[in-house]
Amino acid sequence: MNETDCLYDKHVKCLVCSHGFTTKKLRSKYVRPIQHDTDFCSYYDSENRNPLYYYITVCPECGYSFSDEFSSYFPPRTLDAIEEKVWSNWGKLNYCGERDLRQSLNTYKLAIYCAQLKQEKHVAAAGIFLRLAWLYRTEGKTAQEFRFMQLAADEYTQSYSTGDFKGSHLSEVRVLYLAGELNRRLGRTNQATLYFSRIIERQKEFLEKSVIQMAKDQWQEIRAEKQRAAN
Ligand SMILES: [Zn+2]
Repeated sequence: MNETDCLYDKHVKCLVCSHGFTTKKLRSKYVRPIQHDTDFCSYYDSENRNPLYYYITVCPECGYSFSDEFSSYFPPRTLDAIEEKVWSNWGKLNYCGERDLRQSLNTYKLAIYCAQLKQEKHVAAAGIFLRLAWLYRTEGKTAQEFRFMQLAADEYTQSYSTGDFKGSHLSEVRVLYLAGELNRRLGRTNQATLYFSRIIERQKEFLEKSVIQMAKDQWQEIRAEKQRAAN
């Protein structure tokens, strides 16, 4: 099968410049992960079938870059900031076709900048940072992976404190779990324990039993690690 058959054209209308365009997305039936990490990072058998490459949409006309988690609301003056800082400097690059890793990394950096200018919700910013960390992990670039994992951990923490994940695709238990697991991976075990404990204490309130079990496993892992270090 031709690899490009995995892709389809999604129609988009830009919320900044109103330009209509199509951009490639991966058909969900071709998304077949072969392995998962404990922070939900998935691995695929072919880079052409990695949905992370197509997570960000970039308007070819003005450069506004966003994920599906971005809200349609622009706080006061943020539209002006994007027009001035992104649109007026935009070199009409086109990221609407098939992407390689380098192009995909560029789209994430553009979206991070737009999220900052737009004052986007913490949960949306976290989703970008986390996926960018996963891309670097897949490439074995550990320093970059940790840099973006730290940014993701801090955004999930703030998303939990402010409650801005409500109405997003992420449930409260997943936000808590990601705050715990990313902090655990970063070696911040006290913070990790705090978030895992919150899940365990309130487990009756949550529906996703598999996530509760993962929190218990990782909490247990931290305890075992501490005991090994003490002996
Ligand atoms: Zn645009």
